[in-house]
Amino acid sequence: MNEGLMQLLALQDVDRELQALEEARDKFPAEIDERQGQIDHARATLQEQVDLLENLAREQRHYENEIEDAKADLKKHEERFSAVTTNKEYDALQIEIAACKSRIAEYETEVLETIETSERLRQEIETRRQEVEKIEEQHQTRIEELQQRLASLQKEVDGVESSRQSVSRAIEAPLLQRYQRSRKNRGTRVARILKGACGACFRQLPAQQRNNVKYTDTHVHVCEYCGAILVWDDQASS
Ligand SMILES: [Zn+2]
Repeated sequence: MNEGLMQLLALQDVDRELQALEEARDKFPAEIDERQGQIDHARATLQEQVDLLENLAREQRHYENEIEDAKADLKKHEERFSAVTTNKEYDALQIEIAACKSRIAEYETEVLETIETSERLRQEIETRRQEVEKIEEQHQTRIEELQQRLASLQKEVDGVESSRQSVSRAIEAPLLQRYQRSRKNRGTRVARILKGACGACFRQLPAQQRNNVKYTDTHVHVCEYCGAILVWDDQASS
């Protein structure tokens, strides 16, 4: 029995190692997501500005077309002067020509404003593009590093899991089940008796119980306080 209990202690060490590795492995994806999120956000903000610039270019083309139309209109009206016979017709034509010219002037102002805004935006985009590159560089390196560590951690986890299997095989099934089922007190399911106390909760054990653990090989004893399986280890217990 005691040999089996010593194996349980070894198993518990393996389980602790496994747990620490798994915790580290589980933390990395959150950091990767956080950093990827920052890259995505920076790229999205840049894309918004690029879209805005495209809208401005469309707007500019729209006004340029309007100017073309208005100029064609103006030309048609001007050609009608030769056919004008009355003052009334002449005045009406003058009014329409003035309206065409004012439309042209209005659209030209819009085009100029669009050009100015686009130019400013283009400079902002250039600056932001450099910022985004910096952000990408900064996070990408760390993301790749984390992904590599994640892959190597997984290998370590696999290695420890296989050593867990070989340790488990040396333990009798009922004892192993007892270990799996027992309550975990701060990660401890199996504890050596140390200076007369339970090695998990450090409470002093009754002398009778200490002796039972030390001399009775026939069944498993648990700490009455924390439920840890108690082990008498000749090297450490007293
Ligand atoms: Zn205890």
